[in-house]
Amino acid sequence: MGDNIPVLVWLRRDLRLGDNPALAAAVASGRPVIPVFIADEMMQDLGAAPDWRLKLGVAHFDRVLRQVGSRVLFRIGSARQILQQLVAETGATGIYWNRAYHPDEITRDTNIKSDLKALGIEVKSFPGNLCFEPWTVAKGSGGGYRVFTPFWRSVRQLSVAASAPAPAQLRSPQDWPKADDLQLWAARHRMGRGVSVVRPYLSLGEQAAWERLETFCDDGLSGYSAGRDIPSRPATSGLSEALACGEISARQIWHRGRALWQDGAVGAETFLKQLVWREFAYHLMFHEPHILTRNWRQEWDGFPWNQDDQHPDVIAWKQGRTGIAFVDAAMREMYVTGRMHNRGRMIVASYLSKHLMTDWRIGQRWFADCLTDWDPASNAMGWQWAAGSGPDAAPYFRVFNPELQLKKFDPDGRYRRGWIAEGQAEPSETALSYFDAIPKSWNMRAGNPYPTPIVSAAKGRERALAAYQNRGF
Ligand SMILES: Cc1cc2nc3c(=O)[nH]c(=O)nc-3n(C[C@H](O)[C@H](O)[C@H](O)COP(=O)(O)OP(=O)(O)OC[C@H]3O[C@@H](n4cnc5c(N)ncnc54)[C@H](O)[C@@H]3O)c2cc1C
Repeated sequence: MGDNIPVLVWLRRDLRLGDNPALAAAVASGRPVIPVFIADEMMQDLGAAPDWRLKLGVAHFDRVLRQVGSRVLFRIGSARQILQQLVAETGATGIYWNRAYHPDEITRDTNIKSDLKALGIEVKSFPGNLCFEPWTVAKGSGGGYRVFTPFWRSVRQLSVAASAPAPAQLRSPQDWPKADDLQLWAARHRMGRGVSVVRPYLSLGEQAAWERLETFCDDGLSGYSAGRDIPSRPATSGLSEALACGEISARQIWHRGRALWQDGAVGAETFLKQLVWREFAYHLMFHEPHILTRNWRQEWDGFPWNQDDQHPDVIAWKQGRTGIAFVDAAMREMYVTGRMHNRGRMIVASYLSKHLMTDWRIGQRWFADCLTDWDPASNAMGWQWAAGSGPDAAPYFRVFNPELQLKKFDPDGRYRRGWIAEGQAEPSETALSYFDAIPKSWNMRAGNPYPTPIVSAAKGRERALAAYQNRGF
């Protein structure tokens, strides 16, 4: 009889069968498993692109679960109330989930855990989508790391938990509780840009993530160190989107990369190091959550950054018409594909925060609205790094020159031509697709002349350095 009492698995950003510790534990219990996804209050804070991507991911995972005899039980509302209702409706005595690490999620989950425990429910949380739980890595002197290199040195030899295998079949409950309409919810999105343009760039689900990882390990890894800074080359893994929805786990990627590193594969160490930058971002967010919202270095408080996100310079930056080719190409790449090359992210973030002297949080928010691989920890760390206000940040006086950067990292002009149509006799398809993606109100045409710089590389640099000097940096 007890064997028929179901276990609830509360899914969040862990839309995979393999290496899903909460799901594996529920299956191992031998009891019926009810995977639950709740569109709760926290989803309302998501930007348009991550919200859309997550919805597609959940709908996709529902299809995957149906192939193994299960489904996503979908509900809309407060997670706290819905989990309690489901306990009452199903008689479940256990709720399992994989940990989430955003401070708001930690607060929510802690409260829910104590409520459910008070009701006598067995609540178990398992390691989330990280190789290293943030509290397990500490400096010799105590506390969290603030600099990447010692963090990397301390984690690179640590053992990472083995990946749990994917269950072949899930045991269903005799009766499924009533669900809200997942397909209807998934179809509703707030994307203000042409979704038909962005959609072909998405890569949904666990199988697609594994194909990416395998293709990258077979064909990309050896050229990764040399090619990963060249934005026109598909030299990186492209796994960030899958990681953001938990369609592959960081541990799975780590084990694959670590085995190759041990075999002496060229590029494997550099790749793992990049993966560990993501771990570092989570480590910082856990130990010093103010990295998400406040200058990590307090000396930046009071710096006279532009705070107006409707300022014409900021609008030009968002719309990819600053007249600075590297910046515009990268902003357009993000608008069309939902992703942006890492070099581009560094350049556009530096240009906004340094040349345009605009608060990094304005850029952080725009990325959070536009990126299908949006990740709160990596995004905040990246922005604070570029602005100079973060831990282990680029020093304030290091102002990237976007023109020299373009010469260095796009010597044959392929990236520029790939994304900027204006001024070209025969613009590329990708460059033209930007005009299908943008709202008409932006009033931009491929045939218009390419704009002159709103703030030139040299002038912007001078202005930023003068402002830093005035602040006594
Ligand atoms: C201003 C700024 C904002 C950023 N915002 C995000 C974001 O919202 N989401 C996001 O996933 N990454 C963000 N990054 C980090 C980085 O640009 C992307 O992770 C990377 O471009 C993803 O491409 P990839 O999967 O092909 O990376 P690969 O080069 O193949 O690297 C493998 C994995 O390592 C991790 N990684 C690589 N570089 C970094 C890095 N610098 N910081 C943290 N993790 C890294 C990612 O998980 C990535 O998928 C940001 C960087 C900057 C400078």
